[in-house]
Amino acid sequence: MNIWFATNNKHKKEELEAILGRNLKIPTDEGYIFDPEETGSTFYENTLIKARELHKLLGNNDFVIADDSGLCVDGLNGRPGVLSARYGMENGQKLTSHEQNIMLLDELADNPIRTARFVCSMVLLLSNDRFFIAQETLEGEIVKKDQMRGDGGFGYDPIFFVPRLNRTLAQATADEKNTLSHRGKAGKLISKYLLTI
Ligand code: IMP
Repeated sequence: MNIWFATNNKHKKEELEAILGRNLKIPTDEGYIFDPEETGSTFYENTLIKARELHKLLGNNDFVIADDSGLCVDGLNGRPGVLSARYGMENGQKLTSHEQNIMLLDELADNPIRTARFVCSMVLLLSNDRFFIAQETLEGEIVKKDQMRGDGGFGYDPIFFVPRLNRTLAQATADEKNTLSHRGKAGKLISKYLLTI
């Protein structure tokens, strides 16, 4: 049976395949147009919206995994949070990750409160009303503007300093990231659920 991941982001697909140790299908693999409206005000509401939408689109009994993740910055009262992917978006036009990183560093400026966390909510949906949810975090700090480092990972990784690694997340190896990260930890819980079914 196929296990689907409700994302269009190939990078996230590869990360989750490494975490789960299995191949996943994403909507674009089969030419599906998948663009659900993420109207939830929490990460876990959005995971359910994405998973249910893909389950409906597939119209079969394949399992669906969905995640919703983002960066919550304490000095910005938890923003960008659930809006992380859309941070700085104007007229439907998304900024590049680099532009978002610069914007966030400018917004935080010299604020001494630099603590932040990545949050990942992940759901394994077996049918519309049968699902398991896991939510995990990775704690860290937002670097100063002249301390952006690394070209690994994606998104906000270059501005997120991980004290345990003494490096930014973009300087971590894929294995290090998968062991420590919000998505890695949530994925491992989902992997345990998969073994119980
Ligand atoms: P989602 O795909 O709707 O869950 O949006 C998640 C957004 O949060 C991404 O577009 C990134 O901007 C950010 N994000 C989530 N996880 C990570 C990560 O591991 N590293 C960097 N940015 C992340």
